Amino acid sequence: MTATTSAQSLSPLSTELRAAALAALERLGATVPEAAEDAGIAVHSPLSGERIATVRRDGAEETRAAVGQAAEAFTTWRSVPAPARGHVIKRFGELLAEHKADLAELVTIEAGKITSEALGEVQEMIDICDYALGLSRSISGRTVPSERPGHRLMETWHPLGVVGVISAFNFPVAVWSWNTAVALVCGDTVVWKPSEKTLLSAIGSAALLDRALVEAGYPSEISRLVLGELEAGEALVADERVALLSATGSERMGAAVAPVVAGRMGRYLLELGGNNAAVITPSADLDLTTRGVVFSAAGTAGQRCTTLRRLIVHSSIVDDVVARLVRAYEGLPIGDPRTDGTLVGPLVDAGSAERMARSLAEARADGGEVLVGGGEVTVDGAPEATYVAPAIVRMPAQTAVVRRETFAPVLYVMTYDELDEAIALHNDVPQGLSSSIFTLDAREAERFLSEAGSDCGIANVNIGTSGAEIGGAFGGEKSTGGGRESGSDAWKQYMRRATNTINYSTELPLAQGVNFG
Ligand code: NAD
Repeated sequence: MTATTSAQSLSPLSTELRAAALAALERLGATVPEAAEDAGIAVHSPLSGERIATVRRDGAEETRAAVGQAAEAFTTWRSVPAPARGHVIKRFGELLAEHKADLAELVTIEAGKITSEALGEVQEMIDICDYALGLSRSISGRTVPSERPGHRLMETWHPLGVVGVISAFNFPVAVWSWNTAVALVCGDTVVWKPSEKTLLSAIGSAALLDRALVEAGYPSEISRLVLGELEAGEALVADERVALLSATGSERMGAAVAPVVAGRMGRYLLELGGNNAAVITPSADLDLTTRGVVFSAAGTAGQRCTTLRRLIVHSSIVDDVVARLVRAYEGLPIGDPRTDGTLVGPLVDAGSAERMARSLAEARADGGEVLVGGGEVTVDGAPEATYVAPAIVRMPAQTAVVRRETFAPVLYVMTYDELDEAIALHNDVPQGLSSSIFTLDAREAERFLSEAGSDCGIANVNIGTSGAEIGGAFGGEKSTGGGRESGSDAWKQYMRRATNTINYSTELPLAQGVNFG
């Protein structure tokens, strides 16, 4: 049950975190695969900045074996009626609800999310199970009029096979469940390679799905977990038995993965970095806007793909907007994410803080002025952890640093005079994930949502860029990867379509009036 990291070498905080994580895993019914410190993958908690456990490292061979097991399980799972598959997901959702606090605790310990956001992440898993249960009774194809008498033309949908899921550290469990709940009701089997930074959360959530499968009499090979790093990820991407590779992470990762999957004619679904902006117009309700901006920009310590990173404010109101935001930022409680009232937890590791400091230096060199935040914050008892004060930077222009995603809480503020100018600035970045406009002017709102407005996969009015619901399709354009997950008709990506023509007549008329003898 325990990993081999010795409790004696840990600080009091890390000892407490390790004990809490292992206790949560025990309640989840999960077994932690032990490894020696020098052989396994180190599990750090951003709350202490220290290693709290060491787990088995799966490589290419173990990954290929997991794909083999999932491919074998597919041959039976695909023929289980979809509503019966839905019942497994329903049970998984019940187990998630029962263990919501346990899983959220692991998410907080490994990803550093404040308790409320960690609970929200698990709630998102429960929500997608509800959605997938409904989907299991509503997956349907079209019947299309045939031009030939006595013929029926219809579409049927079939499972693809093995779906490979690669996930990022910042949504350590929800992204897997979006993919898995939908893929499983579609009849696919799943191999998951979670982020190497959040392995305990993955072990805990996979244990619940195993339980739901086994209780219903199905083999747990329908869902496989690979505890690996780059080698395991690359093996999953290259494996020809993986029919769909759904990968969430940086644009860099997507650029490495896409050509490999395309080269073997596989399908991919990419959910990559964002560089999300909000336009604030003169008619905006500034109280509501301030709250929406602070949650989207500083929440999750700026570590969401949908984090608000750019603010494009009408020049007539920019001083007022900035003053309100600076006031709000100065009062942000930063600290242990388990403590009531904390709104900003730690960055995932010191590397993130270094990248944030480099981006701030580059912004200053470009003429930017840091109005608030940007420095490291010391939290009692956690000298190795990396806490930062979320920063607001006034920029004279959208320079290279602004056009890049820095995965930390930095909000760049720029100004505009005409809405067309704001939209052009908004779209002039490589990424296309999420966007917002704050306005009470219906014309401005509609223009932002029109084909000549935001070029993102998500475009909102009077709410921030983050915090999507599972009912809509989630994903973004351009270098964000073009994938869509979760609700709406995203399920179609997990299935293949067959067009069937059935002749129930006694003749054999050919399409387009062709006469063949
Ligand atoms: P990352 O790209 O470093 O790692 C993500 C995952 O990809 C990890 O599991 C990693 O092991 C794996 N990986 C990396 N290179 C690989 C390769 N060449 N082949 C196979 N697997 C590989 O990202 P991260 O730091 O964990 O997460 C933060 C990033 O993820 C940000 O850019 C964020 O915007 C993005 N993200 C996007 C979404 C979305 O839905 N669009 C959601 C969450 C996070």
